[in-house]
Amino acid sequence: MSPPGAPARKAATFEEMAGDRGAPKAQVEKPQAKSPAQKALEKLGLRRDIDLALHLPLRYEDETRIVQLRDARDGDMVQIEAQVTHSEVTFRPRRQLRVTVDDGSDTCVLRFLNFYPSHQKTLSVGARVRVRGEIRGGSFAGGFGREMVHPSFKLAGGELPGALTPVYPTVASLPQAYLRKAVLSGLARADLSETIPQQFLNKNLPQPLSDLREALQFLHHPTPDVMLSTLEDRSHPAWQRLKAEELLAQQLSQLQARRGRAAMRAPALGGQSMRNPAADDGASLQGPHCTLHEQLLERLPFRLTPAQQRVCAEIDADLQKSIPMHRLLQGDVGSGKTVVAALATARCMGAGWQCALMAPTEILAEQHFRKLIGWLEPLGIRTAWLTGSQKAKERREALALIKSGEAGLVIGTHAVIQDKVEFKNLALAIIDEQHRFGVAQRLALRSKMTEGGQEPHLLMMTATPIPRTLAMSYYADLDVSTIDELPPGRTPIVTKVVNDARRDEVIERIRGQLLEGRQVYWVCPLIEESESIDLINATQTHEALSAALPGVGVGLLHSRMPVAEKKAVMSLFTEGVMGVLVSTTVIEVGVDVPNASLMVIEHAERFGLSQLHQLRGRVGRGAAASACVLLYSTGDAPRLGETARERLKAMVQTHDGFEIARRDLEIRGPGEFLGARQSGAPLLRFADLATDTQLLAWARGVAPVMLDQHAGLAQRHILRWLGGKAEFLKA
Ligand code: ADP
Ligand code: MG
Repeated sequence: MSPPGAPARKAATFEEMAGDRGAPKAQVEKPQAKSPAQKALEKLGLRRDIDLALHLPLRYEDETRIVQLRDARDGDMVQIEAQVTHSEVTFRPRRQLRVTVDDGSDTCVLRFLNFYPSHQKTLSVGARVRVRGEIRGGSFAGGFGREMVHPSFKLAGGELPGALTPVYPTVASLPQAYLRKAVLSGLARADLSETIPQQFLNKNLPQPLSDLREALQFLHHPTPDVMLSTLEDRSHPAWQRLKAEELLAQQLSQLQARRGRAAMRAPALGGQSMRNPAADDGASLQGPHCTLHEQLLERLPFRLTPAQQRVCAEIDADLQKSIPMHRLLQGDVGSGKTVVAALATARCMGAGWQCALMAPTEILAEQHFRKLIGWLEPLGIRTAWLTGSQKAKERREALALIKSGEAGLVIGTHAVIQDKVEFKNLALAIIDEQHRFGVAQRLALRSKMTEGGQEPHLLMMTATPIPRTLAMSYYADLDVSTIDELPPGRTPIVTKVVNDARRDEVIERIRGQLLEGRQVYWVCPLIEESESIDLINATQTHEALSAALPGVGVGLLHSRMPVAEKKAVMSLFTEGVMGVLVSTTVIEVGVDVPNASLMVIEHAERFGLSQLHQLRGRVGRGAAASACVLLYSTGDAPRLGETARERLKAMVQTHDGFEIARRDLEIRGPGEFLGARQSGAPLLRFADLATDTQLLAWARGVAPVMLDQHAGLAQRHILRWLGGKAEFLKA
């Protein structure tokens, strides 16, 4: 996809760059066997000249100066020129090459544990060599003076470079020297002409942005007088330019995606006079003026919380527009997102349109299915069920119901987005636990075009709230609705961190809960011994608990089980036949068994913070006081690692999903927090949302004006930074 206004310039492939190494250019068009280095370049995403130019160094080496040994301090990374005065291979403590060099100011031993005859040849007595490495001082085996272990070296002489030498992020199959050459050539060829209009370069910024080419040239090859700390903390003006560029590209592409959506058409669901067409005979209508939506509200066993009412109104307002909704509904675990989704479907179906609800696991999809048919079938709605595991006949029937429009609502797993699924008139697609789905899947759901080329409205639900800074950047093209209160009558969950050595006490506690008629979850991180060295697996725990709790139904649920078996176990637990459910993280999302009051998480130190919070949210759903026990084990270590401790501490200190998300972000950083898969947005490589708030504000201010008044430049800017990835942002 190449947006209009994109420069017609052809991006150089690596083959072209490597052309000077012998491959005649005429052969570039033909597919050739790629060298490991070329493959590695592609794997790193370095395809175009501009990609190479934007591949910035991790750090630098200073090869611009020769240091006198006398002046070098312990631990310094130095470059010296010296004469070899002695060379020997010794065998104590193990085979090694020791070479003594003298630069006139002092001597030093170069030590090599791995070496080739060619090393020995270059480093023969009398040779003058240029050596770079870390100086280590003091006495060591053999009692020589100072040493360098495995320094790099070459014969002395030759010019000293005028700039620091870049060290790039790379992989083993891509040697630094090769990458340096490729980057240099990319930098020379890339189109780095200015894309940011002059008037924005110093708008509301402490210092004007520098020129992009100059900034890049500097970052790749800084002059030796630079204060290294300004490169390390990225406060140098050259870095500011790069970060501003990157943030601007992100804002531009998201804004463009949002505007692109605004130009699309979706079924506008009229405001008032909505009817349930499936019940036009009036049979299930309770009153002549009662919409399906109102009927559902009346049938609910509870009243909506004010927060639920608010988000319902926000969604309703979107559904009445002819622009596709693109809304994220976020609400802590247990905040009651399902009923909000159900009410939205009632709006659509009442107006005669179809809806689809997709969940990441079959267990979760089935729970939705049960809950929603319980609410909607009495109102005359037919629901179709679609999963990968169902029988061909059942599936054919479901597909027919969906195609004919008889099924107003389709619930299922990924099966919902398969090609064979044809809707009659899909108006609303809902994705539960959206972070479990990839961008491609979201795109596929949206591409289930409805009548007349219209797009369905899209509602995504998540229990992992997005911290504000991320919402402003990664999710700038999403509207967000937030359920910020739990339904009344929930008792807070007491969280305890317990050493694994006290397992027996925990089992005692389980007994207590069971005696009170409550149920218990026990979550383990892995299911197979082969996958880890020392984790106690779910199977073993299941056996141990069964033995410790005679007469109690103890179920086992893990991801390798056949779906039918999983379902059977889950329904036994839901019905209360099983008292304890030992499970891997398959229950992480969405499972709703209000009678469960105790959650034990084994090896809690191995889970991420958001995951722990999601798991804990499985209890505390009913009125009974609930507890969560985080069992940890330090293995051979005397104590837990720092981040694990922080995570467990955060779990004890707060139950607020937003606070948890904030801390998670703090502990993990946005890259990991989002995951490219989850966000769909390209992750920021250079800018840091926590510290670059001023640049983010700048980019947010500039993007709309630039799209309006400098559309061509905006496209070039997006293309420069995102290349083909911009398409993903529309998901
Ligand atoms: P989540 O937001 O985690 O998906 P659910 O939709 O599964 O939460 O709701 C959790 C539980 O709370 C369900 O049993 C649901 O029926 C119940 N619930 C939802 N809304 C309310 C409400 N307003 N009052 C009381 N209970 C509610
Ligand atoms: Mg849910």
